[in-house]
Amino acid sequence: MLRLFTQALLDPSKTAIIDSLGAHNYQELTLRSQQVATHLLEGKTDLNEARVAFMVTPGIDYTAVQWGIWKAGGIAVPLCITYPLPSLAYVIEDTQAEIIIAGPEYEGILKEYALDKNLRWLTLMDLQKPISPTILPDLSTDRGAMILYTSGTTSLPKGVLTTHANIESQVSTLIQAWKWTAEDYTLCLLPLHHVHGIINVMSCALWAGATVQFLHPFDAKQVFELFLEGKINVFMAVPTIYFKLVTEFESRSESEKIQLHECMKRFRLMVSGSAALPVSVMETWQKISGHYLLERYGMTEIGMAISNPYDGERRAGFIGKPLPEVQARLVDEKNEEVPAGQPGEIQIKGPSVFKEYWGKAEATAKTFTSDGWFKTGDIAIVEEGYYRILGRDSVDIIKSGGYKISALEIEEVLRKHPLIKDCSVVGVPDEEWGELVVAALIPLGEINSQVLNQWMREQMPAYKTPRKYLILDELPRNAMGKVVKNDLKKLFV
Ligand code: ATP
Ligand code: MG
Repeated sequence: MLRLFTQALLDPSKTAIIDSLGAHNYQELTLRSQQVATHLLEGKTDLNEARVAFMVTPGIDYTAVQWGIWKAGGIAVPLCITYPLPSLAYVIEDTQAEIIIAGPEYEGILKEYALDKNLRWLTLMDLQKPISPTILPDLSTDRGAMILYTSGTTSLPKGVLTTHANIESQVSTLIQAWKWTAEDYTLCLLPLHHVHGIINVMSCALWAGATVQFLHPFDAKQVFELFLEGKINVFMAVPTIYFKLVTEFESRSESEKIQLHECMKRFRLMVSGSAALPVSVMETWQKISGHYLLERYGMTEIGMAISNPYDGERRAGFIGKPLPEVQARLVDEKNEEVPAGQPGEIQIKGPSVFKEYWGKAEATAKTFTSDGWFKTGDIAIVEEGYYRILGRDSVDIIKSGGYKISALEIEEVLRKHPLIKDCSVVGVPDEEWGELVVAALIPLGEINSQVLNQWMREQMPAYKTPRKYLILDELPRNAMGKVVKNDLKKLFV
């Protein structure tokens, strides 16, 4: 039996999940997932890696379905619960899912499509019908477990197949590094179709025998209400969520601020990741909560790979050091390691690295070196053992007049301007320079390019100063809150 499931049997009466229906213990989760598996098997002995796509609101039903698919020997394909049908159909068709499971809120969007395509259609009600238990398959850990899609920040999302062994490695590494225990109580408000929510929060908590409370949809006021109940001690989010919580905090009265501060100070751990954490947000959060956010770096393909330490110095603007079981190196275009202190692409090796891009043998082959390193496409430098992300080679590293300029570095400087709330820097094609540095800004007040240029030149060399500024109300972001820079670039043309 998978280690995730054996752990759940250690203390069956312990609360595993809290959702809008109430509290559910590990025994309930175990029994309900066995029931789901039995229904899925329909008398067969093994689903043999059939893909099962499911659209369920985060909570006990979601987890029972996900575990049930694994227990029946299937590959879990979590669907994003806010996608419209065409985006859902892309995932269902790309994974060649044979079975579709829908929670009551999503039956309307999926039923006709599933029946039309002759897929096996199951509702949560079908899965809750009484059924006599059956023997479940014994799973080897090298079998396919899950297909998650990348966030689609740079191109169409790619389906990433991980095995049970990959997932065990991704989870056990974080449990060790971030010291998860059964005493922990976490709030999960991230989507469960990406690693951050499903692995770092939900799976780590359940593997450790801890409690996970789900909140959906995200609501900053409700987050603080739950914090004030005093049970949550581990919290993970993406930078945009911390940004929204800062805004909510600032709208509160002085006495509420003190109350919230005192409550957050008692948390054991607060983590940020999925996109670069602006130093300004980190500093403000520190004042608000008393916590120096732990920033880490990871991908759908590798789980978490590099992290600031749990104990020891957490450096603002850095993602930390390689996690246990993870090998990392920085290389140049020829896949040769760069000299110390030079920028290079992060490459990763180890048991957490995914098996393949589903149905894309060519893309899979291209993304590994001949000696088995996974090419992340992210450029970083290392200072005193700490990695600092300069950005994605494809969109954040701007090639202008022979220079390679980090968009993230310019964004950090722009954000320090008192009139800039948020910003994003990209390169746009230019005949003379190759690419030109340009910036989209969300200002807090009246601002013009003359003032900005002068201010930027005091802080950075001229070639890094944006040549054009575009004022926007909002930056184009995807479900993980990441700026979709290819969409942003189009606004400059
Ligand atoms: P796609 O591959 O479809 O373009 P994506 O790369 O955003 O989308 P994910 O796998 O969700 O999809 O995200 C991984 C990427 O997120 C990394 O390659 C990296 O660029 C970025 N990332 C993750 N953590 C951090 C961090 N702490 N700082 C900066 N970037 C980060
Ligand atoms: Mg990616």
